[in-house]
Amino acid sequence: MSGYFFSKDSLAKSDRILLFVGNRILVKNGDFLWRREQVPERFIAQDTMIKVSYGGEDFLVTRAPEGVENSLDAELTSLRSLMFEGGERAMLVAGKANQLLDWHASHQFCGFCGEKTIPDRSGQALFCIACRHAFFPRINPCVIMLVVDGHRILLARNARFRAEFYSCLAGFIEVGESAEDTVRREVKEEVNLDVGAIRYYKSQSWPFPSQLMLGFYADFASGHIRPEPGEIEEADWYDIHELPKVPSARVSVAGDLIEHYVKAMK
Ligand SMILES: [Zn+2]
Repeated sequence: MSGYFFSKDSLAKSDRILLFVGNRILVKNGDFLWRREQVPERFIAQDTMIKVSYGGEDFLVTRAPEGVENSLDAELTSLRSLMFEGGERAMLVAGKANQLLDWHASHQFCGFCGEKTIPDRSGQALFCIACRHAFFPRINPCVIMLVVDGHRILLARNARFRAEFYSCLAGFIEVGESAEDTVRREVKEEVNLDVGAIRYYKSQSWPFPSQLMLGFYADFASGHIRPEPGEIEEADWYDIHELPKVPSARVSVAGDLIEHYVKAMK
């Protein structure tokens, strides 16, 4: 099999495996990759495993039963902690694995006719033989934007996630919108400001659960800040020389947007 799938029969001793228990990942001594020989047969649940390719290497992914951590003298960690502690490689490999497992689990049956799906010939879709629909992994595009006004930038705290840091505004792209439309709409909805020029900066795959974050700068045009109740707990202008705690530029496009702007302005 090719694409996102791998047959358990083809497993070799040296193959590296990621084991998920629910949405947590099995880790031993800080390492999330297991060699085939370290994992007893009974802990590899499916006949068909998910395959993640990264940097020219393949990693195999499977779900393991509850309690496996005790048998293997290991611990379970969340994708978020693995990402913040393990850096970019951990985030991309485990993030992709998590997204593909979710897609596989939620598309076992056809949404049109209810029949069981199977991997298609390319291995990149789940396919319904009865009505011939293919279901590809879904990526949800979002925008994340730093509103800027010379030496000050707009930072906010989300009301729902209760993060300890201040960050950029963000939102999902709605049906029919361009990314730039979403930037203008979200800034207006979340803090009641109008923005002028919008500049694309960079994008990032964000596996919570399956977003593609498109990072932008948006120039402030007019208005007074009014945080959207229930969405934004706090939003304000911050001088680039006196910033509060912001996300790490190493793992998030939000942190990178802020760091890049501040460096350019100083
Ligand atoms: Zn069908």
